[in-house]
Amino acid sequence: MTHRPSSAGLDPTVADLLQRERARQYYTAKLIPSENYVSDAVLAATGSLLTNKYAEGYPYKRYYEGQQIIDPLEQLAIDRSKALFGAEHANVQPYSGSPANLAAYVALIDKKAENRRILALSLAEGGHLTHGHSVSVTSRFFEAHHYSVDRDTCLLDYDAIAARAREVRPAVLVAGATCYPRIIDFARMAAIAQEVGAALFCDIAHIAGLVVGGAHPSPLPHADVVSTTTHKTLRGPRGGLLLCQERWARAIDRAVFPGLQGGPHVHAIAALAQALHEAAQPSFAAYASAVVDNARAMADELLRQGVPVITGGTDNHLLLFDATALGCGGKTAAVAMDLAGLEGNANAIPFDTRKPMDPSGVRIGSPALTSRGLGLAESRQVARWIAEAIRKREEPAALAAIAEQVRDLMAAFPAPGFGGEVPDRALLGPSALGSGA
Ligand code: PLP
Repeated sequence: MTHRPSSAGLDPTVADLLQRERARQYYTAKLIPSENYVSDAVLAATGSLLTNKYAEGYPYKRYYEGQQIIDPLEQLAIDRSKALFGAEHANVQPYSGSPANLAAYVALIDKKAENRRILALSLAEGGHLTHGHSVSVTSRFFEAHHYSVDRDTCLLDYDAIAARAREVRPAVLVAGATCYPRIIDFARMAAIAQEVGAALFCDIAHIAGLVVGGAHPSPLPHADVVSTTTHKTLRGPRGGLLLCQERWARAIDRAVFPGLQGGPHVHAIAALAQALHEAAQPSFAAYASAVVDNARAMADELLRQGVPVITGGTDNHLLLFDATALGCGGKTAAVAMDLAGLEGNANAIPFDTRKPMDPSGVRIGSPALTSRGLGLAESRQVARWIAEAIRKREEPAALAAIAEQVRDLMAAFPAPGFGGEVPDRALLGPSALGSGA
């Protein structure tokens, strides 16, 4: 296979947009903690002609013929998932993290069950939409209740979660977050679940790569069901993965297919098998610990720059800072950063009083830059540019000057997935003029 799918035959408009996005991804400091750069091999599998194939069912039990290659391929991805995470059962078919989470609830809460309560971290304090937020269908089909973080420390308070669990008596206790910068104590969450007779569901979408790389404790010995996305710190294709104890295997498989999905995305499953192979190499453990070191360096440098970091730092791949200390909201800060080539996202801080579209914070992370090989010194430099960009948010020339330095730095750390090719910098257009949506 070639490094990347051939672009021959693309219509000029699509080709132009793809070329420009390629250049943008190469020369921007990708700081969104849920993003990463896949390898050339993962990209090749994702863009392969497996996309042509229907494979409803599971390995060796299909509703379509022509599965001679697909069956062993999906089985390989299943076996590698089980081995890497130490799981009794794996389902590699979820299209992404959100359908995986819905399948987990469907499996854990029988349709005839009277207790349909789930208890999870609230979105505003770091949980995910699919953890029962009112706009998510997870709150339409299940009765959602939430716990929070401590008002003073912004840390999970396990005694308070236990008290809330005794009050709610959920069928499913959810552990996991989309914006929590500290270690989650899955063993403690399991003890709480056991005390109230709930199943424990752990959503490790963000931290899966840290878990397999040994940089975050694993939920596997403790959880009934674990879900993850495959495209964040795990550095695989866009997709979802469910892991569970054997006793939930049948319910999980039935929830995914035929419960919620039709034909699996076999090209993504092949790419996942490749990503799992990469994550099983010793170099991936080094990657996972470098991700945490780099995030800590960014947090420390932001604090030095006078920018408050929520919980005072990080133990994982992400951090959340309060932009209002620099005199603006999170959206304004994130837009200024984007104009300076620093791509993060506006995010609520715990107990935020500002609106969700323009919250107080900005969320950044280190997974993508670490994949390019940036180290502690570069991470600190990036943090200094972040503070400078926000402070100089009304000076287009200053933002353009930072963007040029960011581009120079990115050029010195070639990104995976580009087949060793360096995109033409001219495709970006002039700094600080092409962004700001
Ligand atoms: N769970 C968590 C904790 C997440 O952070 C996300 C995505 O950000 C998801 C689930 C959903 O994943 P997807 O966007 O692939 O549906």
